[in-house]
Amino acid sequence: MGLSVNLRLLRERSETLEGELATEEWASDFNDELVVFASPLRYRIEAELQGENLFLQGPLSVTLDCTCGRCLKTFQTTVTASEFAAFVPLEGEDALTSAGDFGDLTPLLREDMYLALPTNPVCNPECRGLARAAKSQEIRPEKGPNDSPSPWAALDRLSL
Ligand SMILES: [Zn+2]
Repeated sequence: MGLSVNLRLLRERSETLEGELATEEWASDFNDELVVFASPLRYRIEAELQGENLFLQGPLSVTLDCTCGRCLKTFQTTVTASEFAAFVPLEGEDALTSAGDFGDLTPLLREDMYLALPTNPVCNPECRGLARAAKSQEIRPEKGPNDSPSPWAALDRLSL
């Protein structure tokens, strides 16, 4: 499935492709513990042929459920690749993947969108994470079986 464009029709006139791609259609191989897709991939792409090349341009966006890498809180964020653009030859080694008249745009969208995803999501740039909780534990005075006089106290007295 994914997103394809009819190249034969594109020879006659350029086209605007607008819609959504379900996660399994474009990112089925994506696997990240901290980032989960919470919406389809939304696209609005101008497609046109320039000679024997396909030119694509337009914004892509997707909503993510992220886990903060510092405090492990979950939060939602939307990532937009507003500058998405691709210029792909129809023939040769780097040619667009196509079947008959249909060129497959999915790999192009995937590549750009993966690059736009956060590699280390943080709920807030100011997030102090778990360090804060650990610190308040340090301050808390320890009580319990270990609360005996330091063995060094005896040595200190001897050294006098
Ligand atoms: Zn956080």
